[in-house]
Amino acid sequence: MFMEKQNLKQAVLWEQAGDKKVQCYLCSHRCLIGQGKTGRCRVRKNIGGILYTLTYNKLCSANPDPIEKKPLFHFQPGTSSFSIATEGCNFQCDFCQNWQISQAAVEQGEIDGQAISPEQIVKAAVNYGCKSIAYTYTEPTIFMELCADCGRLAKKKGLANVFVSNGYETAEAIDFAKEWLDGINIDLKAFSEDYYSRLCKAHLQPVLDTIEYIAKKTDIWLEVTTLVIPNENDSEDELKRLAEFIVAKAGADVPWHISRFHPQYKYLDSIATPLETLQRAYEIGKAAGLHYVYIGNVTGSNTENTYCYNCNRLLVERQYYTIRANNIKDGCCPDCGVRIAGFEI
Ligand code: SF4
Repeated sequence: MFMEKQNLKQAVLWEQAGDKKVQCYLCSHRCLIGQGKTGRCRVRKNIGGILYTLTYNKLCSANPDPIEKKPLFHFQPGTSSFSIATEGCNFQCDFCQNWQISQAAVEQGEIDGQAISPEQIVKAAVNYGCKSIAYTYTEPTIFMELCADCGRLAKKKGLANVFVSNGYETAEAIDFAKEWLDGINIDLKAFSEDYYSRLCKAHLQPVLDTIEYIAKKTDIWLEVTTLVIPNENDSEDELKRLAEFIVAKAGADVPWHISRFHPQYKYLDSIATPLETLQRAYEIGKAAGLHYVYIGNVTGSNTENTYCYNCNRLLVERQYYTIRANNIKDGCCPDCGVRIAGFEI
């Protein structure tokens, strides 16, 4: 499927739409792309009525990371995940912490990176002793072709695959990935359309649909993260609706990571999230019925530990991204025996 002369790989999940236009249905923007043009992510291009990915041979990041850094707390805890990215994103968040690589294609029209084959990536993951490959730092959906080729090879080597995603995949994209994708952390950034359209240039409903689809129609392990930004998504009502949505549509066993905001990129006229706000969000999550709520980006907090939701026994003690103790026995609380949800937990 390589187009050798331009060294580009044909994209997945698109169809011809007449007049040499193509429709991409990898993400919920569902761009209609004219001949010679790119989609909103700027990394998928229509050349002669065929859609190509511009990033397949352009890896921009590759590091072994603790899986807890994704964050995934109930997925192969205490292991390393070989974390890779290519440039680009289908969102344009004003507060992006990785904007240098996520927005380069949109802002400068440039895509940098190295040609590293899926075989080399999987080999590096194995050599580093990683138990999974994480497609992260930028939005993995838009480098799906590389994810798929790495993901299938990784499975053959006994490695898992995880996405850290904004949740804008279409149902078709999830169906495409689910044979090799084992876990995902989705950013549910807010519970307001105004927030998504104003700050991310996207919409809320597709993200809600993705969370529900993954929880109900796949076996992919799901965790959810919300970055709490002062005066944007930190009201009592919004946090309550976020937590209640997760319980109702994804289930009480889905871990919710509440993350502290620090001013970034274009969003500099704000303070970091006050600790009291994060604590309030934590209590709202627990009151909504979520079994596992965590506060991230805060040092010295015991809200990164896992407690049994039934008897409150300390199960997993974490400090930063290190596991100090894991008392879970055969996937259950050693005191009351209740099952603790997770992937090889
Ligand atoms: S992946 Fe890119 S081209 Fe495809 S629909 Fe999304 S933004 Fe548009």
